[in-house]
This record gives sequence, structure tokens and C-alpha cells, in this order.
Amino acid sequence: MPEVVQNVRLLHYTPDAQKLAAMAAKLCYSSAHIDDIGDDLTPEKSAAFLKRIVDLGHLSTVEHVSFTFGIEGVSRTLLAQITRHRLASFSVQSQRYVSYSEDGFGYIIPPAIRALGEDAVREYEAQMDQIQRWYDGWRQRLGDGESANEDARFVLPGACETRLMLTMNARELMHFFSLRCCNRAQWEIRELAWRMLALVSGVTPALFANAGPACVRGACSEGSMTCGKAAEVRKRHAEIVKGRE
Ligand SMILES: Cc1cc2nc3c(=O)[nH]c(=O)nc-3n(C[C@H](O)[C@H](O)[C@H](O)COP(=O)(O)OP(=O)(O)OC[C@H]3O[C@@H](n4cnc5c(N)ncnc54)[C@H](O)[C@@H]3O)c2cc1C
Repeated sequence: MPEVVQNVRLLHYTPDAQKLAAMAAKLCYSSAHIDDIGDDLTPEKSAAFLKRIVDLGHLSTVEHVSFTFGIEGVSRTLLAQITRHRLASFSVQSQRYVSYSEDGFGYIIPPAIRALGEDAVREYEAQMDQIQRWYDGWRQRLGDGESANEDARFVLPGACETRLMLTMNARELMHFFSLRCCNRAQWEIRELAWRMLALVSGVTPALFANAGPACVRGACSEGSMTCGKAAEVRKRHAEIVKGRE
């Protein structure tokens, strides 16, 4: 299998997510009973209420809603980073049960290598082909099957494609977007984070109106490490998030 490209889908999210989070917030401030807590929460009222709640930082209320993504065409390098987010739930394609010998492993080509030109890309692809041969060779010597996959995979590169399902609640997603939409984050996870932000903004715009790197809410949080491109980032954010309000 040759180069693969990033693909992310929003597979599922809490039904009536904005109303549910607004109900959780209203419960905190109202004497209403559970049976009628959502009665007057129209979509417009829920959205307006939620924006206030999120600005106030009363974020336990948005933990009641969650989002599940299907992600493919990303590298094992990305996997090592995204799984550092401990409040997320993951299911990842197994390199024990799935063999890469028949179709070959898919791989990601970093844009900076592509930008070096065709010769560089050919060299990179030849390296991937060599790794495929090493992998196939070890599988054969180890007797094929699951236990052969288990050890042959040790020669696979960080570029090797993985597929996963990921679930995060809205609060964890906001935190994830703060860290990973920032230009200081590595390019592949950053690209994924912006795509995820676009997807959730499309279905629950009030929840994620101010989600993204710190510079979309105010000053850059990176101090001397700042990328100096806050205006550019804010523009991208406005196109993705504000455009959907
Ligand atoms: C630009 C960038 C560079 C990085 N470079 C490196 C690197 O060189 N090496 C490296 O190892 N990692 C690196 N990381 C990963 C980073 O250290 C975090 O592991 C990762 O971003 C997950 O963040 P988190 O712990 O805040 O998130 P989550 O695990 O999603 O946690 C969310 C929040 O919950 C709270 N929380 C969760 N677990 C605990 C706990 N056990 N105790 C207390 N509070 C908790 C914290 O408030 C935390 O912020 C980098 C991340 C970024 C964005």
C-alpha cells in the first residue's frame, strides 16, 4: 500500500448535545425539578446560555456530552502523541491481528519531505519499500500468523499508517484544541485537531465558539516560543468556527 492521506469523520455525538449541557448548567442555578429543567431551553436559549457558561469556565457542565471520531491515514507517530491525552477513549487497529504483508503498510509522507521535490519523495518511498521487505521477511521467518506479526512489526516505521476510533467529552476536546491547534504542536496532529474542530463546530457551534489555541481567546500563551502568527491563526479560526454561527 502506498501513501495514505488523513481522513477523519465525526461518527457519533451526544444527541441534543447543546441542550443537554445547558440543562446541566441550568440545574446548578435553578430551583426547577429534573422533569422540567429542559422545558424552556429552545435551541437559541441553550446556545446563548452555553456560550456564557463556557466563557465563565463552568466546564464540568460540558463533560456530559461527548464526540466519537473515526480516524485513518495518520501515522503511528501521531498515535504516540494523541494517546497522551488521558481523558480520551481509544480503539486502535492492531498490528498483531492485522498483517501488512498482503496489501503492504500504508504510510504518511511529511509535507516538508514532499516540498524537497520528486527525488526526495522517491527516496523516501524506496525506504518504505525496503522496510516492507524487511517486515515481510521477518514474518515469513517467524512463521506468519499473529505471533509473527507481533514481532515483525518492530521494524515498521513511525510513518506507518494507523486507524483509530477516539471519543472525548467536550471539555477534553476544548483542552485538546488549545494544545494541538496551536502552531507549536507538530504538523500532523495539528492538522487533525483543526479538522476535528471544524467537525464539532459544524454540529455544536455554541459549545466550540472559542475553542482552539489560546491566541483565539486573547494573548498567545507560548511566551518566547510564540510562532508570532496569531493574526493568521485567528483568521483560520474565524473561517472554521465563526463562519458556522
Ligand atoms: C507542543 C507540545 C510539545 C510536547 N512535547 C512533549 C515532549 O517533548 N515530551 C513529552 O513527554 N510530552 C510532550 N508533549 C505532551 C504533553 O506533555 C502532554 O502529555 C499532552 O499534551 C497531553 O496533555 P495533558 O496532560 O494536559 O492532557 P490530558 O491527559 O488530556 O489531561 C487533561 C487535563 O487533565 C488533568 N490531568 C490529567 N491527568 C492528570 C494527572 N495524572 N494528574 C493531574 N492532572 C491530570 C490536567 O489538568 C490535564 O491538563 C507535548 C505536547 C505539546 C502540545
